[in-house]
Parts: sequence; structure tokens; C-alpha cells
Amino acid sequence: MEVHNVEMVMSAVRPSQYPTDNLPEIALIGRSNVGKSSLTNTLINRKAFARTSSQPGKTQTLNFYKVEDQVFFVDVPGYGYAKVSKSAREQFQVMIGEYLAKREVLKGVIQLVDARHAPSKEDIEMYQWLSSDEMGGLPVLVVATKADKIARGRWNKSESTIKKALQFKDQTTDFEIFSSETKYGKDIVWEWIEARMLD
Ligand code: GDP
Repeated sequence: MEVHNVEMVMSAVRPSQYPTDNLPEIALIGRSNVGKSSLTNTLINRKAFARTSSQPGKTQTLNFYKVEDQVFFVDVPGYGYAKVSKSAREQFQVMIGEYLAKREVLKGVIQLVDARHAPSKEDIEMYQWLSSDEMGGLPVLVVATKADKIARGRWNKSESTIKKALQFKDQTTDFEIFSSETKYGKDIVWEWIEARMLD
């Protein structure tokens, strides 16, 4: 999709605050610093639209970006801060649980992992949950970010390490390697999103 128009429409912590436009939604999720804002900005051709790395302790909200009046990108706050309190973690789980498991217009989830490392425990738990029966076959795209930081000859190895650790389910999950530096993978990620919009 050629993107000209993006609006940050709203932040939500509960279902009554979600948009009512009835447009398809694509959620983006990953641990803090994995490159989620960079991926979002690459997809929408902006340098700094999505804010980078929110700070631990800051209010964690779902942020809805309306793209070309056709689809919402839903920025799910980064997980994996060791230091957040138990109650903050529980609030986060309720918020994303309500959204990801129940939202009817949610057409797919892009889960980001770092191409350089084996997925973390939280990455694995998140993937297991996203691909569980509870989610009813929700399409997931695993995007391995920061691919420019590893030699191209190691991309296959990175992919197999990630898939093995996640116990990757080919039935409902796709995989793409990506770099916001070089834009590698941008078209494929867009193709995946556009296909989900038609599902
Ligand atoms: P977020 O917390 O997941 O939104 O992560 P950001 O998008 O803010 O990225 C975190 C850091 O990683 C920033 O310093 C980015 O410049 C850097 N980064 C993100 N994506 C890439 C990438 O594809 N390649 C490289 N080399 N750096 C990246």
C-alpha cells in the first residue's frame, strides 16, 4: 500500500475506548526496544511518527493509527520490562488479553523478535498464547527485526533458531526477516497485511 495519510486516532486502555469505525485492525507486539516503532514508521514511510520506546512506568496504552482510512495499526505496548510492578503487569495482561482475544475486527498480529538472538522467555510465552486454540486461528506474522545487524549468510540460521524456540506453527504463522535500516522485507510485510485486510 502506498501510504500518504496516517492519523494517530486514539489511545485506549479498555474496550469502550476502541475505535468504532469497523475497519480491519492489525496489532503489532514485541518486547521493548525490538524495533516496533521503527517497523511501523517504515511501513507508513515516516521517519518518526510512531513514538520510539516508551519508558517503563509510563501509562501503557493501546495506540490506534489509522492508515489511509483503510486499516488500523494497533501498537500494543512493549512487554518484558523486568522492573514493572506486579499490578502493572497484571493490568497489562488484562488490557492486551481483552483486546487480542476478543476484538472482532482484529485480522492479524505481527509479533516482532530480534533476528540476532534466540527469542526470550516472554517472546515464547506471547507466541504460544497468540497461536493457542484460545485465539481461534488468528493469523500471526513473526517478523525478525534488525536483520542488517547480522550477515546475510546467517539469516537462515536465525530463522531456524527462532522457529525452533517458538515451536513455530506453519498453519497459522508466517515468518519474515526485516530491517528498518535497509527496508528489507517491507513489501512482504505489507502484502501480508493487505491479505489479512481481505480475510
Ligand atoms: P521499540 O521500542 O520496539 O519501538 O523499538 P524502536 O523502534 O524504538 O527501536 C529500538 C532501537 O533499535 C532504536 O535505536 C532503533 O534505531 C534500533 N532499530 C530498530 N530497528 C532497527 C533495524 O532494523 N536495524 C537497526 N540497525 N537498528 C534498528
